[in-house]
Amino acid sequence: MKCVICKGSDIEPKIVDEQIRTERDIVLVTMNVLVCSSCGERYYDKKAMKKIEEIRTRLKKRDLEVKEVGKIMRVHAA
Ligand SMILES: [Zn+2]
Repeated sequence: MKCVICKGSDIEPKIVDEQIRTERDIVLVTMNVLVCSSCGERYYDKKAMKKIEEIRTRLKKRDLEVKEVGKIMRVHAA
């Protein structure tokens, strides 16, 4: 498998914090995905996509327990 972004061939499974956006928040989910070690592009297989969709749906229904690990802040700079 070659990276479609940088054409590198060094793609390996990695544990990453995937960010799932809800209306206002970002929820981190630890996932095992393929990552290009040259440019950092992530590749999701069907199983990973399904998991993300499932979590997204459950978050909408508030069916998952989430824990605050930090805050998202914004600076007002011109
Ligand atoms: Zn790449």
